[in-house]
Amino acid sequence: MGKIIDGKAAASAVRARVKSEVENIIAAGGRKPCLAVVIVGDDPASRIYVRNKVAAAREAGMESRLEDLPASVSQDELISLVNGLNADPEVDGVLVQLPLPSHIDESIIIDTIAPSKDVDGFHPLNVAALQLGRECILPCTPAGIIHLLYREGVQIEGKRAVVIGRSNIVGKPVAKLLLDRHATVTLCHSRTRDLGSVTREADILVTAVGHAGLISADMIKEGAVILDVGMNRSADGHLCGDVDFEGCIGKASLITPVPGGVGPMTIAMLLQNTLKCYKRHVEGA
Ligand code: NAD
Repeated sequence: MGKIIDGKAAASAVRARVKSEVENIIAAGGRKPCLAVVIVGDDPASRIYVRNKVAAAREAGMESRLEDLPASVSQDELISLVNGLNADPEVDGVLVQLPLPSHIDESIIIDTIAPSKDVDGFHPLNVAALQLGRECILPCTPAGIIHLLYREGVQIEGKRAVVIGRSNIVGKPVAKLLLDRHATVTLCHSRTRDLGSVTREADILVTAVGHAGLISADMIKEGAVILDVGMNRSADGHLCGDVDFEGCIGKASLITPVPGGVGPMTIAMLLQNTLKCYKRHVEGA
């Protein structure tokens, strides 16, 4: 029987560490780190994510500014707002919740965020720095996955890692982070033929697809480490991942549940990124 990776506990530990660092900064007379979160429109899921991010920043003792804009806001108005946050010396991190309404070009907005305040790690300069193996702000979910692997003492070097999903926010960056840690990495996607023949080779399997039940027990290797990023609703309305958890837990050595696995790490890493941006900001780096 595999061990369940407790993402909630891992995230709580990161959040407690960030909170204690913030307390020390304030006790030493420093300014509070500040995260600005921008939401456009009324997408219910985005509203929940944003509320959680703002609450988590405040819970960590940070300042959190919410910029709540109607769906009718123009692209130019949004660019002006982001530029204002970029220029504001009291703001350390800027996050624009995606997706944006269809009349706004997401790429242009991401490009507008100052790379030094890009707490999501989505700006092209941060993406390029990650590809080049240079110092950068890591995207939160991939960073959270690597954190979980370290916390569980999983050796990455020399292992066969398979990542399913090639999005810019999860699949591609997590594949790069595993490669940097000397795994032999295969990236699968919707056109991959005979997915099972690839996943059965995986010592470490990361799934970021959004398809409940995509990975069944016959598709994994005995003793595999499984990190399930997928967030889906099952037929009975429950939140579930891409992996058949009940079927795979007996065969995996380590496995993340959904909910309570990779998910909680995303916000924890966002707070860590905000603190990192703050430190660079006050040090003028
Ligand atoms: P996406 O939705 O942009 O793309 C899905 C990817 O899956 C694509 O690269 C596609 O090629 C691949 N894919 C689709 N069908 C496939 C198939 N049958 N076989 C193999 N690959 C297939 O990706 P995303 O934005 O990274 O989101 C993926 C999932 O992760 C979603 O369920 C999302 O909700 C979840 N997610 C969770 C977190 C979190 O837990 N914090 C963060 C981001 C995304």
